[in-house]
Amino acid sequence: MGQQLLSKMENWQELEQKLFMRTAKRLPVTLVRGQGARVWDAEGKEYLDFVGGWAVNSLGHCHPVIVRALTEQAQLLIQASNQFYTVPQVQLAELLVAKSCLDRVFFCNSGAEANEGAVKLARRYGKLHLGGAYEIITARESFHGRTLAMVAATGQDKFQEPYIPLPNGFVNVNYNDIETIKAATSTQTCAVMVEPIQGEGGVNVPDDNYLKKIRAWCNEKGILLVLDEIQTGIGRTGTLFAYEQFGVEPDIMALAKGLGSGVPIGALLAEERASVFAPGEHGSTFGGNPLVCMTSLAALKFIIDNEIPEKVRQVGQYFVGGLEKLKARFEFIAEVRGRGLLLALGFTSDIAEELVLACLEKGLLVNQVKPNALRFMPPLIITERDVDEALGILGEVFSRRL
Ligand SMILES: *Cc1c(COP(=O)(O)O)cnc(C)c1O
Repeated sequence: MGQQLLSKMENWQELEQKLFMRTAKRLPVTLVRGQGARVWDAEGKEYLDFVGGWAVNSLGHCHPVIVRALTEQAQLLIQASNQFYTVPQVQLAELLVAKSCLDRVFFCNSGAEANEGAVKLARRYGKLHLGGAYEIITARESFHGRTLAMVAATGQDKFQEPYIPLPNGFVNVNYNDIETIKAATSTQTCAVMVEPIQGEGGVNVPDDNYLKKIRAWCNEKGILLVLDEIQTGIGRTGTLFAYEQFGVEPDIMALAKGLGSGVPIGALLAEERASVFAPGEHGSTFGGNPLVCMTSLAALKFIIDNEIPEKVRQVGQYFVGGLEKLKARFEFIAEVRGRGLLLALGFTSDIAEELVLACLEKGLLVNQVKPNALRFMPPLIITERDVDEALGILGEVFSRRL
């Protein structure tokens, strides 16, 4: 690499400071290349990636199946508009419907957009079947995205306060407490929307019967259950969809993140009864474009054909075993939580930021999900050796704190 290019690279971070709106608090690393569960920075330093593009790169970086689908489709048809039929979106819809409990699909480009669609669909249902009910009950500590309406749905003050007044029609109640949902339900309620496991809220796993209780309550009241599986879906928690582990079926489900294994795609799924959009009531210019749909189809097929969810369960259990051993060694570890490869370590004090930086130095990328918790969301294809390596680095970093 030429000297000129290298010296330019060293300035990326400075340039970013000048050019970008200050929304992201980034770590001092510029990533330029990835392969499997590894990434490399501009100086050539290698990292084991347990952030995985934020629970996105299901098959790791630059998986040959992804690269092939992307490059082949790029030479065929990239974007066509939804005024016309295109093939990859129908194939992807067919597979999603075949492998889920839902009947119909709408494609968009991100998680927030999928949730927006879910909320609009639930409101249409309320208008048509529930006497105009429009309120949606969501949980505190949830995360549903960054659009104005999704900020209102997201039950966290830090996301809401800067934007008050917020769109109305959202009631935030305590997570993992069915009584708060019952108390908040009124004749205006059209749906309950929750994450099966809260991701951004800190990897919070509810009691086994929480979702079942919500399902029963929704049935009793005739309102819809919307599951935000944007982070938990597509094998992340050890089944293709997390709802399978909790013994419930949603009426509406939002997907994104891992669905495209790196390409931006969101999807909204609903059962027939709840699929009440009429032509023109919802839409997206880029949604369902052949490029991302073909790539997502290749990723999803690979995940299903290679029984990746089952492997996630196994390697996740192995990882939890190692984390539990660390917990036994270090008093400042309070808790190991999560399912599959959506895991977190909770600490007795706010040390996560310093741990992230120490791991970074040792070549391990991890996420500070809370001031007192680290989150692990590696590619679903990691091996026990990768886990051993990560555990080794965590052990070293924790030892230095003693
Ligand atoms: C990431 C996430 C979103 C938002 O997805 P974007 O693609 O960033 O809009 C919504 N819900 C959950 C559960 C998420 O984890």
